[in-house]
Amino acid sequence: MMIECIRLVMKCLAMFTRNIAVLSEDVDVLVLLTALSPPEREIHFRKPSKGKILQREYSSKSLGKILPKCKEHILFLDAFTGCDTTSAFFQSGKNVFEKNFEKRTDLQNAATVFENECEDIDENFKAGVTCTLTSYNAPQKVKDLNALIYNSFLKASGKKTCVKLPSLPPIAADAAFEHFKRVYLQVQTLFGKEILPEEWSWKNERGILIPQTMTQRPAPESLLKIIFCACKTGCGASCGCKKSGLNCTAACLEYNGDSYTNPLPTIYINEIDDNNEQ
Ligand SMILES: [Zn+2]
Ligand SMILES: [Zn+2]
Repeated sequence: MMIECIRLVMKCLAMFTRNIAVLSEDVDVLVLLTALSPPEREIHFRKPSKGKILQREYSSKSLGKILPKCKEHILFLDAFTGCDTTSAFFQSGKNVFEKNFEKRTDLQNAATVFENECEDIDENFKAGVTCTLTSYNAPQKVKDLNALIYNSFLKASGKKTCVKLPSLPPIAADAAFEHFKRVYLQVQTLFGKEILPEEWSWKNERGILIPQTMTQRPAPESLLKIIFCACKTGCGASCGCKKSGLNCTAACLEYNGDSYTNPLPTIYINEIDDNNEQ
């Protein structure tokens, strides 16, 4: 899809010497126009109105005027902060990252690691971690993803409501690393390099490419057992425990034993003894 977009844009640029306008609902097209339009050309992009949202118009030069560094590295920024063909950080806005990116050379250097040919995969991982920490506004003392997750969990668990696991940063060196690989693949592909998706976090299942989200379990078994809910009138379809395929435990905020609608199966000591004797 992305490759087709590029072909279309390049064809338009070659066909028309005057300024042209592209009409599309897909903002990724604007990203490509911004990245690929020659500096002397100005290509307009129109996103049609939808419901109450009015039609909006941008130009391939809009971003460069306000955020020149973001414009320079736009293919990396789009891939890293989330698009259809990589993945995105849940509840982590693009704006925070882009504002930091404009003024911080360490983030710009991280972008060039993804833009250059990969010589050492560890460098991509380090660069990706730097960018992820910024996306989550990590305090300066936090230097790695494990510490970031731990800090975020402590902060979230201090609130009265249940901790929303998806809103925590990605699982350290695993889910994040898979995202970094897809980012590298996408940036390189858009630069015209031909590299195999299967080597960069995509699985080929009967001819269909499927992203590899993780290579490990999301948490140790003992932790998965303590996922809890706060259902007040019994556990229905929205119960976090049920959704995770787990039974409720004493960790659930309203749990009161057997009368609960999603209880942990009770095993009596005698039963264990009986089973052992058989
Ligand atoms: Zn529940
Ligand atoms: Zn529960």
